[in-house]
Amino acid sequence: MEKLHNFFKTFLLFELFKGMAVTGKHLFARKITVQYPEERTPMSPRFRGLHALRRYANGEERCIACKLCEAVCPAMAITIESEQRADNTRRTTRYDIDLTKCIFCGFCEESCPVDSIVETHVFEYHGEKRGDLLYTKPMLLAVGDKYEADIAKARAIDAKYR
Ligand code: SF4
Ligand code: SF4
Repeated sequence: MEKLHNFFKTFLLFELFKGMAVTGKHLFARKITVQYPEERTPMSPRFRGLHALRRYANGEERCIACKLCEAVCPAMAITIESEQRADNTRRTTRYDIDLTKCIFCGFCEESCPVDSIVETHVFEYHGEKRGDLLYTKPMLLAVGDKYEADIAKARAIDAKYR
């Protein structure tokens, strides 16, 4: 009996019409495809994208090489080396983030006592060869310099929800 049932289903193209019905149902429905990059979806103010190292307004690096971010990073993606300067302050001589290890958890940002390491809203970056996503201190500072206005704005909004 089941064989006969299946035979008629196949013979009458039942599955084809069922599929066409689904297509027809969606043909005039509201389209939700976004034409990226011309169109963009809204982004949460707490979105965690590309990392940046920030400076104070006078140009001084914020980072005091306390290494809290390095210690807290669950992916062990951060590598810091530091030295004491002539004025007895401590600064990093090396600050690398391996973005191929990073899981964008935001712990580094949360742990930083001076708001130095942050995650920006930048997500349009890529690497084409091994090592391209190893972000060094000059690269992270350059990101911070470029997006400081956006970072400061996002931090101000974020502070409201803390
Ligand atoms: S976002 Fe998380 S995984 Fe990535 S560097 Fe920071 S602490 Fe490490
Ligand atoms: S970025 Fe912040 S948490 Fe990391 S070493 Fe510098 S001051 Fe410490």
